[in-house]
Amino acid sequence: MPVEGGVVISFARMNRILALDVRNRRAHVQPGVINLDVSKHAAESDLFFAPDPSSQKISTIGGNIATNAGGPHCLSYGTTVNHVLGLEIVDEHGEVFTTDLDGPGYDLTAAMVGSEGTLGIVTSAWVRLLQLPETVRVWLAAFGDVDSASAAVSAIVAAGIVPTALEMMDAVITRAVEAAFHAGYPTDAAAVLLIENAGFADDMDACEAAVEAIAKDHGAISWRTAAGAVERDALWAGRKGAAGATGRIAPNYYTQDVCVPRSKLPQALRAVDAATTAHGIVVGNVFHAGDGNLHPLLMYDKRNLKQVAAVVESGNAILQAAIDLGGTISGEHGIGFEKREAMTQVYSTADLATMARVRDVFDPTRALNPEKIFPRGTRCPEVAPPADPTARSA
Ligand SMILES: Cc1cc2nc3c(=O)[nH]c(=O)nc-3n(C[C@H](O)[C@H](O)[C@H](O)COP(=O)(O)OP(=O)(O)OC[C@H]3O[C@@H](n4cnc5c(N)ncnc54)[C@H](O)[C@@H]3O)c2cc1C
Repeated sequence: MPVEGGVVISFARMNRILALDVRNRRAHVQPGVINLDVSKHAAESDLFFAPDPSSQKISTIGGNIATNAGGPHCLSYGTTVNHVLGLEIVDEHGEVFTTDLDGPGYDLTAAMVGSEGTLGIVTSAWVRLLQLPETVRVWLAAFGDVDSASAAVSAIVAAGIVPTALEMMDAVITRAVEAAFHAGYPTDAAAVLLIENAGFADDMDACEAAVEAIAKDHGAISWRTAAGAVERDALWAGRKGAAGATGRIAPNYYTQDVCVPRSKLPQALRAVDAATTAHGIVVGNVFHAGDGNLHPLLMYDKRNLKQVAAVVESGNAILQAAIDLGGTISGEHGIGFEKREAMTQVYSTADLATMARVRDVFDPTRALNPEKIFPRGTRCPEVAPPADPTARSA
């Protein structure tokens, strides 16, 4: 599918797992492989791929690498960058190069991960696989107010406990999820924490006792341990299907993705509430609380232009609030087109110019995803793309 002035690769059939190297715990995959399919395939050898964005049934390894995807379990396992060992890349001229698995020198693999396709196109990846844990335990703590739930989150981590996952859902979300999935969430709580720990069976009771005590000290009104795999899977299916369940509230939702220091979660959630209430927007919060990574889902009807404008304004107010709290403009979804102008709010001109120089090494004509990440216009002229895309290579 050639396109004038650019490199276009068809990913239509690049969806194969090329090799599963059980001995070395790694897989060689094409970029169109669906995230969850890697873990399903690896499970036959008691292995799994740790990055698990809630979109994992549909998102691809190429997209995960380009955005440095996270997910509920990245609290303890780390994001995609920690699980990519090497890449095959096509540059803007169609040249293929690889980043080394173990070699010395610059860590070009890490440079590529999270670059949103602006440095090259990933055509295959070696990804790390982990051993499936001996035991998994899932707990559900319900709270009468959102502040108490978020205070419990920072207290758990401050106590030196890093669970495998530590997620929060407010009542707007749990009610939508229960209506859609009957997953087992209480609908009378203002907020719930979904907490998972994975590891050795011997460690579980002590961990459970410590986390339960902190939750109750912070006002948990109920505490439940998922009885077994069926109950665990139902709770996770509800959590990962939460965005879709909001279709019961409004025809459309807009996901904001911001990060704040964990200790600032109560203030951040209050800011989300204020920003949406001011514009008459219904909001549901479902997010990676342990990472301080908020995902307010702003409900609206895209046929109503006033609502669209209100959502945009609320979203911007939430972004500003996160920055004011010492946070940042994306936790895991990336910058894309949407937030490129906001890059100037968290990076100086010198910071952005340095990133632009890295980009120019790999993609001097800025042919690859030309509109992404970097701000345009007068706000940051030093890093805007050249007016003539062929000027630098001429
Ligand atoms: C309901 C829902 C839940 C989500 N939950 C999470 C979550 O928990 N954690 C999280 O991190 N994200 C989440 N996301 C966001 C998104 O799904 C992820 O960022 C995902 O990694 C994107 O993968 P994709 O295949 O959809 O990529 P796309 O959206 O198709 O592409 C994303 C970017 O990657 C580039 N790209 C794609 N393939 C390549 C390639 N081969 N080489 C170079 N660049 C490439 C694209 O050009 C684009 O800029 C969620 C999204 C939804 C809708």
